Amino acid sequence: MGEIVYWTIIRTALLIPALWVLEGYINHQLWWSVCVISIYGVIIHPAILRYRTFRSKNQEVLESTLCSTCTHFDESAVLCMLHDKHPTKAFLPCEGLDWEPKSSDVNNEDFFED
Ligand code: SF4
Repeated sequence: MGEIVYWTIIRTALLIPALWVLEGYINHQLWWSVCVISIYGVIIHPAILRYRTFRSKNQEVLESTLCSTCTHFDESAVLCMLHDKHPTKAFLPCEGLDWEPKSSDVNNEDFFED
């Protein structure tokens, strides 16, 4: 996730001066359209695509591992915050020993019935 944010910032930092330079060469009314289209095409759309790829690549870890129900799991980084390691479907950093339910799951009465 940090990589997505990093490259979004880099693309933004490159696009702003490019648009600034283009302002002198393009009709003012057309320039706004170019700005909107280039911001979407260069900054927003690639970030959305990268985020979708990130989610699909980590879908199994996010949905069907013990970590996905643990309070120490950071979904945005796919990271165990307690052990500072990235769990996978085959690798749990704590081997299940430090698992704690999320507070939202504890309040759900159906959580322990399955
Ligand atoms: S403490 Fe254990 S179960 Fe919880 S996120 Fe870390 S590795 Fe996963």
